[in-house]
Amino acid sequence: MNEQTLAIHAGYEKDTQGTMAVPIYQSTAYEFRDAQHAANLFELKELGNIYTRLMNPTTDVFEKRFNALEQGGGAVGTASGMSAIFYAIANVAEAGDNILVAKQVYGGTTTLTGHTIKRFGIETRYFDINKPQEIEELMDAKSKLILFESITNPSIDVADFDTIVRIANHHHILTCVDNTVATPILCKPLSLGCDVVVHSASKYTTGQGLAIGGIVVERKALVEKIKNNPRYAHFNEPDESYHGLIYSDLPLPLFTLRIRLALLRDLGAAPSPFNSWLYIQGLETLPLRMQQHSASALAIAQFLESHPHVKKVNYPGLPSHPAHTLAQKYFPKGQSGLLSFEVENLETAKKIANQTKIFKLVVNIGDSKSIITHPASTTHQQLSAQELIDAGVPAGLIRLSVGLEDTQDLIEDLHQALTFATS
Ligand code: PLP
Repeated sequence: MNEQTLAIHAGYEKDTQGTMAVPIYQSTAYEFRDAQHAANLFELKELGNIYTRLMNPTTDVFEKRFNALEQGGGAVGTASGMSAIFYAIANVAEAGDNILVAKQVYGGTTTLTGHTIKRFGIETRYFDINKPQEIEELMDAKSKLILFESITNPSIDVADFDTIVRIANHHHILTCVDNTVATPILCKPLSLGCDVVVHSASKYTTGQGLAIGGIVVERKALVEKIKNNPRYAHFNEPDESYHGLIYSDLPLPLFTLRIRLALLRDLGAAPSPFNSWLYIQGLETLPLRMQQHSASALAIAQFLESHPHVKKVNYPGLPSHPAHTLAQKYFPKGQSGLLSFEVENLETAKKIANQTKIFKLVVNIGDSKSIITHPASTTHQQLSAQELIDAGVPAGLIRLSVGLEDTQDLIEDLHQALTFATS
């Protein structure tokens, strides 16, 4: 089946009422047929619903549909993008281990990896996404995961998948890609050889800025990389918290199953059925929306590049972007709706952000409504002038999340704001 058809139908067979739209199964728990049925479910002899912290029929459709779009082997929904990232890390690393993370990742991922998990005894070693060969110099026997974004937020760099996957496979380390900005429509990291994909479903998945959510998807046959791999002993040894279950012996997607059975069980950041339903509505139009986001962003990037008061435009669809060739290779259908541009200084950038009418001043991305962000005065406010430069966030940098309004209206909005700010 083609992608647009999967986006509308995958994962849902009509229920007993013949309901066309996926129902919202708003229930905490599920009645067992009898005591044996309950025991079978807990022992995984039968698969079925137990409790909504672990699974839910509406969330199940969201997971199956997303999994189909990523061409994965299994998926598990979470309460936020951050919990998806945390669970992907916690599923492989423990105190004494380290993970390798790209410097250019979402700010929340930087604080999670640089501060929060450090307090759990997990060390993070950072590499430059534009120099993936650094990964090899940083790793050792305790390295458990290579984590990076396919298109980075907010620096808008592009991952060199082939190089990263080659290094990871050579050293038998799992790769985890945050594919939030590219979405499964523009890029399928699992088909490029990556092992795990995470998403913030709060962005393009809902598409209208409606709910916070996340998802983890694993590659088909991931067990082959984990089975008897000493880096992942806990997948190959009995899990004392689950009656001695050995995950790598199961004929089931082991990575997401362990998140469900161990991490959702114990930490509980599960999506609400209503939010899963919102993600399902969003997924139906995701292929169509990503085409439009990408086309509009390219037209706006071209307009900005030709403007005399714009110093630089970062958009992988432009030939001037350093990773343009990689972007053409990995995102041939479009490069998504995120771009940034640089003007003379902080004051000019602030004036532009204050002056746009359609672009709203918000710290979010992936909404149908266009968004303008000035990182130096918001998300990166605490950084010194030098730190801003190191983070690739100069004081005059503006980030745009291009929405689904008319492209020409968006260009005119930016044009009037630039004229106001520079005259
Ligand atoms: N990953 C990326 C690339 C993001 O941009 C964000 C949020 O902006 C997240 C993860 C975190 O997602 P959430 O806000 O759903 O927790």
